[in-house]
Amino acid sequence: MARDPVCGMMVDKQKAIKRKIGDRTYYFCSEICARTYEQPEQELKVMKRRVTLALVGVITIAALRVLVMFGLVALIMTFTIIGVSVYSLAMFIVSTPIVWIAGGSIIAGAYKSLKNRAINMDVLISAGVLAGWIYGVANAFFPKVAVGGEGYLEIAVAILAFVLLGKYIEENIRRRSAASIRKLLELQPTIARVLRDGNEVELPIDEVQVGDIMIIKPGEKVPTDGVVIEGYSSVDEKIITGESIPVEKNIGSEVIGATINKTGLLKIKATKVGEDTALSQIVRLVEEAQASSAPVQKFADRVVAKFVPAVFSIAAVSFIYWYLTRGFSFAFFVLLAVLLIACPCALGIATPTAILAGVGKGAEYGVLLRGGEYVEKARKLKTVVFDKTGTLTKGEPSVTDVVPYDNYKGKYVLEFAAIAEKGSEHPLAEAIVSAAQQSGFNIPDAESFEAIPGHGVQCTYKKKKILLGNRKLMQRNRISIKQLENDLQRLEKQGKTTMILAVNGKPAGIVAAMDTPKESAVEAIKKLKSMKLEVAILTGDNERTANAIAKQLGIEHVMANVLPWEKVDVIKKLQSEGKTVAMVGDGINDAPALAQADIGIAIGSGTDIAKETGGIVLIKDDLRDVALGVELSRKTMKKINSNLFWAFIYNTVMVPVAAVGLLNPIIAAGAMAISSLTVVTNSATLKMAQFNFEKVKKEMM
Ligand code: ADP
Ligand code: MG
Repeated sequence: MARDPVCGMMVDKQKAIKRKIGDRTYYFCSEICARTYEQPEQELKVMKRRVTLALVGVITIAALRVLVMFGLVALIMTFTIIGVSVYSLAMFIVSTPIVWIAGGSIIAGAYKSLKNRAINMDVLISAGVLAGWIYGVANAFFPKVAVGGEGYLEIAVAILAFVLLGKYIEENIRRRSAASIRKLLELQPTIARVLRDGNEVELPIDEVQVGDIMIIKPGEKVPTDGVVIEGYSSVDEKIITGESIPVEKNIGSEVIGATINKTGLLKIKATKVGEDTALSQIVRLVEEAQASSAPVQKFADRVVAKFVPAVFSIAAVSFIYWYLTRGFSFAFFVLLAVLLIACPCALGIATPTAILAGVGKGAEYGVLLRGGEYVEKARKLKTVVFDKTGTLTKGEPSVTDVVPYDNYKGKYVLEFAAIAEKGSEHPLAEAIVSAAQQSGFNIPDAESFEAIPGHGVQCTYKKKKILLGNRKLMQRNRISIKQLENDLQRLEKQGKTTMILAVNGKPAGIVAAMDTPKESAVEAIKKLKSMKLEVAILTGDNERTANAIAKQLGIEHVMANVLPWEKVDVIKKLQSEGKTVAMVGDGINDAPALAQADIGIAIGSGTDIAKETGGIVLIKDDLRDVALGVELSRKTMKKINSNLFWAFIYNTVMVPVAAVGLLNPIIAAGAMAISSLTVVTNSATLKMAQFNFEKVKKEMM
């Protein structure tokens, strides 16, 4: 089964109408829905025409009634043609096209829904409108058969007008908020100044290719994603990240298309164009998320499926009761009122409108919620697990201590370490290599090299076997490090990562490196804890180092010495304790753990959004956005719940009122429209939500 993205009906994939849009296949219950999806503007126009027709009908009928009331045309109206009064004939002529043309889509929807045995709201509306119309017609043409009761044609038209108006307004609001994200794309500049054969030429943006050198003057927009190859400037990235403070850029910095270059001249090499740019990806992700619905929607669907038959039963019972006690006409009046008030129209839009608002709001802050399912999970969230290196810390460690052993000199310890690390891409390796280079050492190549993930590296150099890594690495090679323990522990307590150097099977020294926590970490963790969440740190580093960092940041739970491939198991274990777990990582080496977690949160994705596996993608490298993402998801979920409440309350309260005969069907139809509008408005208020965080205290670290 698949969900029709337009009407929300569950359809059989085999029988459904299929459309391939982009690389996704969508399933529709009917041509109408497929067309609505493909050409939304066209469909909205048709809707508008229908509403107009229905409203014109209502006004005509109201005018006729007023005229009759004042007796102006009373004389003519009471004339009869072949036994039918002119008034009734006029009503018939006005109401028929309205019911069948303006109401055509609803009647078709009801038919289709009955055929698929998936009862939806259209069935209730159609039942009400058609019952009114048929009875009205019978009344007009066969007054002898249909006993008593006038004005049902008018009621049918009024009901339809209300319903159509409500649907139109609802669709318009929905459309408008969905379109706002598309508008982002229009903010991309249309022209780029590019170097071609040494000359500056202005090209339409479509012709810019990866590798082109673009020149961006102060005040201009960056045409497409790239890296700075020359110049220094600050760039306003508000459009992408929601951050109003400009970001400094120099050689090597990533720059995102559509951001604004403020102060200096920049030369940027294009790295992504067209559909691949960060902006295009954001728009696509947000659109996908908006099209997805939360599992709670399934609940709403189940309720509708039970609700509709229940309503029909209530309607039937009250009809029979009133027919026996007060006659057909009144019984019919009650029947209509029950059918119409019961229609839980707003139920269908309770979830989608809230998700639309929440996802759109997140995008403004550079927080991409990738679907309704995560929004729902955030409510049950219990534990937030942070990867240490690169996530909580900057991921740019630098060497702080070199402790030599045996008869090695400090200088040699660092140099051997650098030789071993030359071939590694680990952040620790980079720290050691650059420390050695800074001390003026020209690092030679090793003869052989091997990286052992989660342990360290090993190499041979001038017939010496060099090992550099943690205790696990030493254990694997049966090297005793008892004499080093004191120094190791002293350094680790300071939050430093220690690496042991062993040459030819004997310990030769310790290299310690320190990574600094990100500025946003303390505040982010405080915020998460205030949201009653358990915060944990997950790392391959040793316990003491991890504890030291955890203490600095106020984290109580530490899971250290975890090998890269064991991180998934740690998440699984937490889940097996019944916890809903979010994992925050930088998205590349943490991908499996992010995927395993209930909510994977990929941080600092910048221009590389597509490859992230997260359920929430944070574009900025700001840990506070983790709290923002969770809070936003929770707010969205709250909205969904209050929407469901608003969608139901009218029905539950009013159905008995209608059943006892105290509700006019026209008012019932009006209440229905109001209920939809309440839901739409309620969702829209999410757009106004504010997320304030104290300014980061720079002196913190
Ligand atoms: P994290 O989980 O913090 O990202 P890793 O799983 O990459 O850490 O590494 C865990 C530990 O293994 C490091 O703290 C370090 O002690 C050791 N290690 C891994 N790679 C290297 C390397 N290239 N050089 C030295 N030590 C390493
Ligand atoms: Mg890591």
